[in-house]
Amino acid sequence: MTENSTEKCIACASVVPGCGFEATALTEEELLKMVAAHAAHAHGVTELTPELAAKVKAAIQNRRPE
Ligand SMILES: [Zn+2]
Repeated sequence: MTENSTEKCIACASVVPGCGFEATALTEEELLKMVAAHAAHAHGVTELTPELAAKVKAAIQNRRPE
């Protein structure tokens, strides 16, 4: 990881209230993959609809390593 890299993170609770899952990745694409895998396992979501994807993308936060 370089000093200038920015991590992207998401808390599932932003989309599914009460869920404690959090994911961090270096790219949005990678993060969405992790969220999709979690959603399938934990929430029975087998299809990432455009509506759901929009919610997830809105919940993504950029985090700068200190
Ligand atoms: Zn969840």
